[in-house]
Amino acid sequence: MKVTMLGLGIMGGGAAMNLVKKGFATTVWNRTQDKAQAVLGAGATWADTPTEAVKNADVVISFVADDAASKAVWLGETGALKAMKPGAIAIECGTMSVEWIRELAEHAQTQDVKFMDAPVTGSKMAAANGQLTLLVGADAEVLATARPALEAISATIFHFGPVSSGAIFKLINNMIAASQLVSLAEGLALAHKTGLNMDVVAQAAPAGAIGSGIVKMKLPNALSHNHDDVHFALKWMLKDVNYALQLAQQAGVNMPAISHTQAQFAKAAALGLAEMDTSAVMDVVS
Ligand code: NAP
Repeated sequence: MKVTMLGLGIMGGGAAMNLVKKGFATTVWNRTQDKAQAVLGAGATWADTPTEAVKNADVVISFVADDAASKAVWLGETGALKAMKPGAIAIECGTMSVEWIRELAEHAQTQDVKFMDAPVTGSKMAAANGQLTLLVGADAEVLATARPALEAISATIFHFGPVSSGAIFKLINNMIAASQLVSLAEGLALAHKTGLNMDVVAQAAPAGAIGSGIVKMKLPNALSHNHDDVHFALKWMLKDVNYALQLAQQAGVNMPAISHTQAQFAKAAALGLAEMDTSAVMDVVS
């Protein structure tokens, strides 16, 4: 199976490395070529454009930032979709709006390309270790064909149903994670102001029911106020919350807690923290 990875950021770079290590003939492209050095050193093949990158591929994975990036990579002047083999599989692993995923699926169908959305949970380390969780929206047959490549980058695959169902759950997942960061920050502020011993708070918070994955992961950053080691940029969490609110509006669901969360992330971005780790939102919560 020949696989192409488009996008070699934190997540795409780690995933591409696992494809290479597990023996897949892997072609890569990234807008910024420098980021390909490690994976090229491991044996991947470079292509100058998405069009060039996908010509012989059976499976093409895009792992780029947002709707605009995905649109450029799949449909741009040197985009991937028009150059793919009939019957090949296009996979969007980035976190996108549901509206865009559905539009992209239609474009794929027009080109006789099979399509699936497979956004992920798990961050930088899970991508580097091939231990991502994939949230898939796809025909069962398409998932079965792509599965060997997907298993090279993941530990768990959840199949939610048809195209766009993975994208829907991903937005639900991230809006909940984002709101947990905001409530954690509010709780820590209250603990601090009421004079609690913060060392004990640091031990008790992850030990009890509130010790979710994201709380455990980001509590050290909250306590140290150090958000320089970027595993997931704050600007991308803001994007995800925005996409979730857009979907909720379309679905007629009222989400006041997520609206409050969005305001905190927007405030952090406006204060210049967009490129820092998403945990930086906890420094501006008020
Ligand atoms: P990242 O490190 O910032 O990488 C973003 C990637 O998108 C880079 O390859 C970047 O290219 C590319 N890109 C951005 N704008 C582009 C454009 N207009 N045209 C072409 N390429 C463009 O982000 P990441 O953390 O890997 O995240 C990638 C996706 O995975 C996002 O949708 C994110 O929400 C999702 N995700 C991330 C995590 C995480 O913990 N990091 C977890 C789950 C899901 P350049 O290198 O040229 O900038």
